[in-house]
Amino acid sequence: MDLIIRNGTIVTASDIMQADVGIEAGKVKQIGYGLGPAAREIDARGQYLFPGGVDVHTHVDFALLGHRSVDDFYSGTVAAACGGVTTIVDYALPEPGQSIQETIETWQKKAQGKAVIDYSFHPAILEPSARIIAEMADAVADGYTSFKLFMIGLARFDELAPQYMKVMAQAGRLGALTNIHAEDQCLISYLTEQLNAAGKFGVRYFADSRPRLAEGLAVQRAITMARYAEAPIYLVHLSCEEALRPLAEARACGQIVYGETRPIYLHLSRERFEEPDGERYVGWPPLREASQMQAMWDGLRTDTLQTVATDHCGWTLAQKKAGKTVDELLPGMSNLETMLPMLYSEGVRKSRLSLNRFVEIVSTNPAKLFGLYPQKGTIAVGSDADIVLFDPHKIVTIRHADMHSRADYELYEGFQVTGWPAMTLSRGEIIVDNGKVLGQAGRGRLLRRQRFTVL
Ligand code: MN
Repeated sequence: MDLIIRNGTIVTASDIMQADVGIEAGKVKQIGYGLGPAAREIDARGQYLFPGGVDVHTHVDFALLGHRSVDDFYSGTVAAACGGVTTIVDYALPEPGQSIQETIETWQKKAQGKAVIDYSFHPAILEPSARIIAEMADAVADGYTSFKLFMIGLARFDELAPQYMKVMAQAGRLGALTNIHAEDQCLISYLTEQLNAAGKFGVRYFADSRPRLAEGLAVQRAITMARYAEAPIYLVHLSCEEALRPLAEARACGQIVYGETRPIYLHLSRERFEEPDGERYVGWPPLREASQMQAMWDGLRTDTLQTVATDHCGWTLAQKKAGKTVDELLPGMSNLETMLPMLYSEGVRKSRLSLNRFVEIVSTNPAKLFGLYPQKGTIAVGSDADIVLFDPHKIVTIRHADMHSRADYELYEGFQVTGWPAMTLSRGEIIVDNGKVLGQAGRGRLLRRQRFTVL
């Protein structure tokens, strides 16, 4: 065998076991005792072995509101690897008139030669024309088995909603999952206009422009549309109980609908917008009241929510502060490197999540929902050897200077966490060893994904 990791504690979504892991040709070959010999051996005593994180919501090389994000597929995936994430699924957004295939090719050019970990794309649909709907079958056949819809202005959702229902229906027929950004643009537009007219510019008013009810309303609408389109849907970055309530109700009624939340809604609340440089925390949807953080933890524990994903998008603080009115503030932030340690420290250590549930929501569930399981998302014989050696006792104070994204500020500056990745393996190769990046640019592979299967 090429490599044996000895004496670690393997954690999957279902099991916790002390065993050795034997790796050959990039895959897990054996799990057991007394394995060997191997060309190389690693002693993981005192450490957890997690399957690498699967972050199914990233924008690592992206342009929005006239700005270009600062990470590319090298810096973005290095940040991911350093934080224990070994697979990303990035959103591929078309230019006007681009076909789905052209959009994927554009994104593949961004990733090729740069990515350090494996990756795939969700094609976004911004023009739900008959031509684009006809192209969806080829995309699914090529291994792009999920699509993204935005219920907001950039996709002209309110104007084109019946066409978007046809997109959902077609995705359902093809065995693909439709990912939905659910916020009600009518309310957002009206409230933004009111704020602007009153001279209420700036980040302290931002959360008022996109209230919880705007999210709840859109979630209800998306679920109802999906029900009549007979299509499974996946609601991205949910932030509040107004969103979780209709989701829980639909799931209880048996509808095939899933929910994702995002680290910022677990760790931060809207008071942050009052800070100097509060723009650093702007996302769509906004941070909510502190009470909502508990609602998100509860949603994860009770399976109303199935996944956590970062929505990573690295900007400079100057870019974040460039907008004047609430609708000009750039959404998104760098947070790929901190997702696992923050979730472990705040979730597992504080008994909000079990160790198994932690692995399930950051690795197993996203891999299953997006057609990557069991190649990704678990530690099992035959799976890719994407493994994080995680030191559960290491105390780290999060500092921008130690991070690998090209963003020039750190969201969690000064936060102290207990637990940090000691080593990250991708397909059996050590790509990060104690903070030292060993993986070469371009080693990451494009993943063709299986069709959606129910969770
Ligand atoms: Mn996003």
